[in-house]
Amino acid sequence: MKIGLEIHVQLPTRSKMFCSCPTTDAEAPNTHVCPTCLGMPGSRPALNRKVLEYGIMLAKMLNCKVAETTWFSRKTYFYPDMSKSVQITQYDNPVGSEGFYSVKGKKIRITRIQLEEDPGKTKRVGDLSSLVDYNRSGIPLAEIVTEPDMSTPAEAREFLGLLIADIRHTLDLPGDGERSIRCDCNISVGKERCEVKNVTGLKNVERALSFEVVRQTKVLKAGGKVERETRRFDEERGVTISVRKKEFESDYGFIDEPDLGIFRIGKMAESIKIRESPQNMALRLAAQYGLEEKTAKQIVSTSVGLAELFEDVAKAAGVGTAASWIGAAASYWKTFEDSPEGRSGIVAILRDLSEGRINDVEAGMRLRSFMTGATEESVKAASADLDVLIAGYIDANPAILDEIRRNEKASNRIIGHVMKESGGAYSSADVVSAVKRIVDGRL
Ligand SMILES: [Zn+2]
Repeated sequence: MKIGLEIHVQLPTRSKMFCSCPTTDAEAPNTHVCPTCLGMPGSRPALNRKVLEYGIMLAKMLNCKVAETTWFSRKTYFYPDMSKSVQITQYDNPVGSEGFYSVKGKKIRITRIQLEEDPGKTKRVGDLSSLVDYNRSGIPLAEIVTEPDMSTPAEAREFLGLLIADIRHTLDLPGDGERSIRCDCNISVGKERCEVKNVTGLKNVERALSFEVVRQTKVLKAGGKVERETRRFDEERGVTISVRKKEFESDYGFIDEPDLGIFRIGKMAESIKIRESPQNMALRLAAQYGLEEKTAKQIVSTSVGLAELFEDVAKAAGVGTAASWIGAAASYWKTFEDSPEGRSGIVAILRDLSEGRINDVEAGMRLRSFMTGATEESVKAASADLDVLIAGYIDANPAILDEIRRNEKASNRIIGHVMKESGGAYSSADVVSAVKRIVDGRL
């Protein structure tokens, strides 16, 4: 089985690709439009340079070769959601080509990244008519095309999930990034492939592909032939439906777009630096600091800022201190995400600990006080209460210590009891470290 994806990413520009119409959601259909994005005769497109920049960023993220010169082409477009009957896209010399993206050590080859304009939207009304809304027409997209290197629907889903997280980070996409990413899924169980168009969401990609596996396998087992065609996915019923026989490249009649010219982007590409992707960062943290890969991924997926804190602490106070305290810092991290002072404050406390000026208990208290804004006295009082709760449980159930000697996990019972008794007044990281401290003291 071979699976390849074509992923359409909406690029976060403020205006459309070839005109100055806004890309924000419009209140009514056909309001964010002008002669250019409606494709009126006589109108001429002018390229939004930001689109090239974003394209280069993605090409770099995907380890592609960035073209020295790039240009656009017109593709014949038969449908009414593009009123000028051509779509401006890239054919020869797209912005990036021959890249790869790794998923669990396996390389998925990236054929190309091309820049193109989005068509409008059509909406069926009754059986005989449709309405067209051109607000979306001309919104810039990058299309990422992979080789058919994925071998199961689950693998395709995993690939896409990681890719979307990395794209969001690289382009600073808004939180609902998954909505702005659509996917065409190519799949062949036998020789001929089918394309399921415009699937949104990771779960739907896996569902659509799984349905195709079953459908194509049945056709082949019955001695039939899978036809090369375009299908769509019905989310409610979980099935794919034939839309049309697949066109071949020659049907599109590509010609170079004469209104835009050629763009020399080699220099521009050199000057564009991209941020390290979360996936690469996790791999680097694991290798550089000797963390388990799972732990490194957990830290980075909580937030890249927390991973940066980990690195700061590791440099100032050693990897051991960073590894044992990052969990405690994580529970209050949200408010510190964008605060450099906050970050250096945490580093200073943990440096004091590693250099022996304060002990574990004091470090815990100072950290909590610093991160919650509570006074050290109140933190001290609260943690005294916490200590009393824990000690109380052990006193009432002394056998627990023997159990912990045999199996460390038995301490989860103390943790569970304290969490319940205190009604969530303490973070789980605080309870875990207090239980460990008191239990270690008694063993
Ligand atoms: Zn426009």
